[in-house]
Amino acid sequence: MDHNSIRVLFATSEVFPLVKTGGLADISFALPKALRQLGVDVRLLVPAYPVIKQQLDLKPVDDPIPLFPVLNQAPAQLLLGQLPDTDVPVYAIDSPALFGREGGPYQDSMGNDWADNALRFGVLSRIAAYFGEHRFSFKPHLVHCNDWQTSLAPAYLHYAPASHAKTLISLHNVAYQGVFDAGLLHLLELPDASYHMHGLEYYQQLSFLKAGIVYANWVATVSPTYAREIQTPTFGYGLAGLLASRQHELSGILNGIDASWSPVNDPLLPHHYHADDLSGKAANKHALRNRLGLHHAPERPLIGLIGRLAYQKGLDLVLPVLPNILAEGAQVVLLGSGDKGMEQHLRELAQRYQGQLSVTIGYDEALAHQIEAGSDLFLMPSRFEPCGLNQLYSMCYGTLPIVRRTGGLADTVIDVTPTHLDQGIATGFVFDYEDPAILLNTVQRALVLYRSPELWRYVQQTAMRRDFSWTKSAGDYLDLYQHLLA
Ligand code: ADP
Repeated sequence: MDHNSIRVLFATSEVFPLVKTGGLADISFALPKALRQLGVDVRLLVPAYPVIKQQLDLKPVDDPIPLFPVLNQAPAQLLLGQLPDTDVPVYAIDSPALFGREGGPYQDSMGNDWADNALRFGVLSRIAAYFGEHRFSFKPHLVHCNDWQTSLAPAYLHYAPASHAKTLISLHNVAYQGVFDAGLLHLLELPDASYHMHGLEYYQQLSFLKAGIVYANWVATVSPTYAREIQTPTFGYGLAGLLASRQHELSGILNGIDASWSPVNDPLLPHHYHADDLSGKAANKHALRNRLGLHHAPERPLIGLIGRLAYQKGLDLVLPVLPNILAEGAQVVLLGSGDKGMEQHLRELAQRYQGQLSVTIGYDEALAHQIEAGSDLFLMPSRFEPCGLNQLYSMCYGTLPIVRRTGGLADTVIDVTPTHLDQGIATGFVFDYEDPAILLNTVQRALVLYRSPELWRYVQQTAMRRDFSWTKSAGDYLDLYQHLLA
């Protein structure tokens, strides 16, 4: 099919800059934007959370269809707006009973999952599938689902009397599956025929993500290495066998990064710079230290860390050797939120190591950009990492990543070894084992290079000149769409 005539509904539960808990939001913004530049008529479907209603100018869709009590809930209405700074149309599901509450998209402000998440994201999935049944004036050829929150759509379409669209499920993180009580099957209007081992049944419960993997025409994930890893028990979180059985319809496409992440013109940075003139980077480091109250010592390396405080991210591998890292003369700046016990522990450490360790608990987009620009090294010791964005931002900002060899980290960071230096391809530091001592060893290896300014600048420049733009990734998605619609 000619790519200029392809119509895609991109169903997602979060999208930057409107609502974001992680990388999915970044991708939901950047990929549709890049695909539209390639001529694809891609439109978003999201829940109309209060933050979305506040930020978008939404109008009822110009469709003759009255919107209906989906899954027997209070009526939902379909609104239409436009994603800021793009030409991407956004359909938003206005259902105050389900989405009209303060708090996060998945959790209340205390960090507890909303009790009715199965219903909330059942409705999102159901309406995504209605698009695929061509019930609205926008009639997509393909419904592109993302993670468990939209993962029932392929099941609804599989059992729909008139399904017109193909389905693709993108797995951004297989560890989150949306597993609920099997008694909800009828409430979700799923047929009994779907509830079995080769359907959406999962250890006597029902799994949204499994439904997507079973019923979608294709399964995509966000890096080639993660696509292989999830077919093994360690990374498959109970779905390895199923994923292996779909290996011929399973592929990995790396995420890109949005053009707004560039040290040349990032509006959130006090100073701009580029690969040929890194003086602005030193000024950002100075400003960051000022902002966070770190001791001034221009020659001392600064190590950044940003992310969810979750088992996945491996922060617990850093803590045992944090005193050693500080003793090496490095300073550490951390931004994150998540596990409450970890948050408390980090606050205490920040007290103990004032001036050397800065901890900011919370979510702060501007500070994230300033840490990426102001740090020398970025630590990302993830246990698993489907793609990872922060290591890409880091390389782009000349901040050399220290990563564990897994998923997208393995696919994007090239270790500083003598051979890779000779070849001019080294961009960071990679280690294999989930072991604090080995992590420390790798940090020490990085600090040795830091003390050779010329070599250091050479690796920084190599990292900064790599192309991580969405153009290539969006082209790969377009190829996949064309393959599916052929
Ligand atoms: P994941 O999606 O697993 O959380 P990614 O590295 O793929 O991890 O993407 C995380 C995104 O969220 C990045 O854009 C990162 O900068 C951002 N981020 C994570 N935590 C924070 C935070 N506390 N403040 C600001 N941005 C954050």
